[in-house]
Amino acid sequence: MRLSRYFMPVLKEDPKEAQIVSHRLMLRAGMIKQQAAGIYSWLPMGFKVLNRVQQIVHEEQQRAGHIPMLMPTLQSADLWRESGRYDDYGDEMLRIKDRQKRDLLYGPTNEEMITDIFRSHVSSYKDLPLTLYHIQWKFRDEMRPRFGVMRGREFLMKDGYNFDLTKEDALHAYNRHLVSYLRTYERMGLQAIPMRADGGPIGGDYTHEFLVLAETGESEVFYDSQITDLTFGAREIDYDSVEACQSVLEEFTSRYARTDETHDEAIFAEVPEERRRTARGIEVGQIFYFGTKYSEPMGATVVGPDGNRVPVHMGSHGIGVSRLLGAIIEASHDDKGIIWPEGVTPFHVGIVNLKQGDVSTDSACEALYAELKAQGMDPLYDDRDERAGAKFATMDLIGLPWRITVGPRGLANNKVELTSRRTGESLEMSPQEAIVRLKEIYQPIFDAAF
Ligand code: ATP
Ligand code: MG
Repeated sequence: MRLSRYFMPVLKEDPKEAQIVSHRLMLRAGMIKQQAAGIYSWLPMGFKVLNRVQQIVHEEQQRAGHIPMLMPTLQSADLWRESGRYDDYGDEMLRIKDRQKRDLLYGPTNEEMITDIFRSHVSSYKDLPLTLYHIQWKFRDEMRPRFGVMRGREFLMKDGYNFDLTKEDALHAYNRHLVSYLRTYERMGLQAIPMRADGGPIGGDYTHEFLVLAETGESEVFYDSQITDLTFGAREIDYDSVEACQSVLEEFTSRYARTDETHDEAIFAEVPEERRRTARGIEVGQIFYFGTKYSEPMGATVVGPDGNRVPVHMGSHGIGVSRLLGAIIEASHDDKGIIWPEGVTPFHVGIVNLKQGDVSTDSACEALYAELKAQGMDPLYDDRDERAGAKFATMDLIGLPWRITVGPRGLANNKVELTSRRTGESLEMSPQEAIVRLKEIYQPIFDAAF
């Protein structure tokens, strides 16, 4: 993309309404525009990152064997009356009447609808296990929408639902989700720690929230510092193996890590004092096993091996796709702007032309731009007629992890500068070497795709 032809409405001033850094930087970098409280337009660069995040979520779900689909945003109230949640959900539910005076609602989640789809089409245990998911906009009329996309009213969520014959099978699905979530967040450059959470009205021990540690997080968390040393890394895992998934769950949940809802001072006190941490975190996902809570009242049953009909065991699993953009920025920025992890950056590299209009500088930039694209990379070329300082400030604000600076002085020796946004380090090299270096940097990112 050429910046002169792009739409990236960068703000010079700090927007007053933004209380936290990710909200401020998303507005300043021209990624989002608020349309109403908690409702945002995704401007081109915000939309690009949102798509990168979605792509990773899709890939990791499908790697785990989960099947993508799409359910509508509007749902019939009747389905929710069946489960008893139409009245229970309260004011967070946006209720709508159509011209026939029928009650609709803008879905805050999809347990009822997926259960309805299941009971319409599946009747034998032979069709199990089954995990379906979608990435769709949700609406929750939050009491206090704030912090930009972090707590919106309209927000994008991945929600998945597993259907299994037995509790054991459903717990394998739970573990499989835990593993796939670990991979998902790491590919985005995030550490999200699974923490034992509150089952709420559903009860039970089987729920974990994934939290990104950040001062601005809304949840108070308590953990053993050893947990922050764990990474899933590039290991391969057989998602069909019960033992393999179980052992990852054990590895990542055996140390103390809980949100304030489940925090237990007595158990926490058993963690050696120097490893006890109290901090704040951003919830970027949650997994749940809830048994037959929806399948029983809604009649989602299958004929089991013995010929009897039994309600299926279910779980649901959510990732806050749009919230993740805020969480990534909270975890990765400095006072100049965003620092995108390579896995989600809107553009792989920025090209800064220090002397726009100079024939040799322009043509070196054009050649770099064309070659990077030919190599499968997505560069942003700042070809505007602006001062170098302004171009650097823009690049720092929008946070592309790598920048190539091209000027007449360097070019005289066939040199450009490759700069890391994270460390600020610059290295001089030929344009060809810069391309080779970037390919090396991004190869693992491309290889991680499914
Ligand atoms: P919270 O406790 O933050 O209100 P939740 O527990 O109600 O979230 P879930 O039903 O678990 O949310 O939804 C799955 C994920 O969707 C959450 O982990 C979170 O990342 C995201 N999410 C929930 N509410 C919002 C919101 N208002 N804006 C943006 N993302 C949200
Ligand atoms: Mg939750």
